[in-house]
Amino acid sequence: MQRTIAVKIPHDENLNKTTAIFNKAVQDCIDIGWETKTFNKNELHKHSYRLLRRTYPSLQSSLVQCARDQASDILKRSGFERNKPVKRINGSVRYNARTYTPKLKQGIISVSTIEGRKKFQITIPKHFKKYAFGTVKGMVLAPRQDFFLCKLIIEIKDKQFKYKRIKTLGIDCGINKIAVCSDNTFYASKHLKRRKGEFFYMRRKLQQKGTRSAKRLLKKISGRENRFVADINHQISKTIINSKNNTFVFEKLSVRKDRKFGRKFNKKLGSWSFRQLQRFVEYKTRDIGKRTIFVNPAYTSQTCSVCATTQKSFRHGNLFSCHKCGLNLDADLNASRNIAMLGNALLGRASVNSPYVSCDDVAGAKAQLQQSIVTSHLTC
Ligand SMILES: [Zn+2]
Repeated sequence: MQRTIAVKIPHDENLNKTTAIFNKAVQDCIDIGWETKTFNKNELHKHSYRLLRRTYPSLQSSLVQCARDQASDILKRSGFERNKPVKRINGSVRYNARTYTPKLKQGIISVSTIEGRKKFQITIPKHFKKYAFGTVKGMVLAPRQDFFLCKLIIEIKDKQFKYKRIKTLGIDCGINKIAVCSDNTFYASKHLKRRKGEFFYMRRKLQQKGTRSAKRLLKKISGRENRFVADINHQISKTIINSKNNTFVFEKLSVRKDRKFGRKFNKKLGSWSFRQLQRFVEYKTRDIGKRTIFVNPAYTSQTCSVCATTQKSFRHGNLFSCHKCGLNLDADLNASRNIAMLGNALLGRASVNSPYVSCDDVAGAKAQLQQSIVTSHLTC
C-alpha cells in the first residue's frame, strides 16, 4: 500500500528559482496544449520540448519532461472546458524518478535544480519513521512561506492479519452520530455539532456576500473545516483500531447512501467525510496487522438484529423498535450490529469460497442479512 509522508526542506534560494522556472515551463506547455487541444504526452513533447529547452536553458532535460507531464495532467483535468488553467509561479513541482534521490535512513534527499543536483537535510517526523524503510515512488515539492514541503509517496508492505480468533466490530456511519460501533460505543458530541453549525453559518454568509475577499476567506475557512474533519476522523479511527477487536466492518458507501438524508439536510449539517474515516481505519489497521472489510449496506437499518425481521416501519427516527420480538434499541446501534453480523457471514463464507452478493442485488442482500443474523444466533 502507498503512504504519503511530508517532510520539511529549509528555504533555499536555488530551489526557489527552480520552482519559478519550472512553473513557467509548465504554463508554456499548458498554453501549447490548449491551442492544439491535446493533453497527449507524445504530442505535447513534439510541440514543446525544443522550445522549452531554448527558452529555459538552465532547466535540465528531465525537469522539462516533468513539466510536460504535469502540464498534460492539468490539461486532462481541465477537460478543455471554460477557462485555460493557470499554473501559479509558486505552485508545486512534481519530480520523476530521474530528478531526485532519496536516502531516508541517512536523512538526505538530493534534488535536481537549475544549478545541478543539490543535497538537502531532512528530518523525518517520529510518526513517519516506520515508513522510512519503504520504497519511494514519487515526490512533490510544494513551496510554503519559509520552507518547502516535500511530499514523498512511499510503497510499503502491509502487515499480515495475525489473529487466530476473529473479533468483529460493526461500524455504522451517520450524520448525527459520526460512528456507532456494535460494542455500544458512540462517537458524537455537542462540540462537534456546534463547530459544524458554525462552519455552515460562515460558509453561507460568505457565499451570499460573494465579493473577492469573501471568496478568499471562504477558501481559508474550507481549509480549516477540512483540517477539523480530518483531525476528528483521525481521533475516532485511532480509538476504533486500538479497541480489542481485530476485524472492522463498514458499510460499502454508495452514492445512494449519501443521498439518504435529502439534499437540504445534507446541506444543513454539511456532509461528513465518512469515506475518509473508512480510509483512515483501513490504512491504520493494515499497519498493525488487523483488517477492515466492507459489506452491502442494503437493509441494515430496517432489519431487527435479534429476530431478523425486515420492515421499514420499525424505525422511528433514532429508535428502532421491532414489533415482532419487542426489541427497542438505538437505530444506529441496531444497524451496526447487523453490519457486524454481515461481516462475520462474509468471513465465514469467504473461507468456503462462496461468491459475494453484489450491492445491486437487493433481494440477495436481504436474504444474506437475514441468513447471517439467524446463523449468528445459532452459533452464540
Ligand atoms: Zn425483532
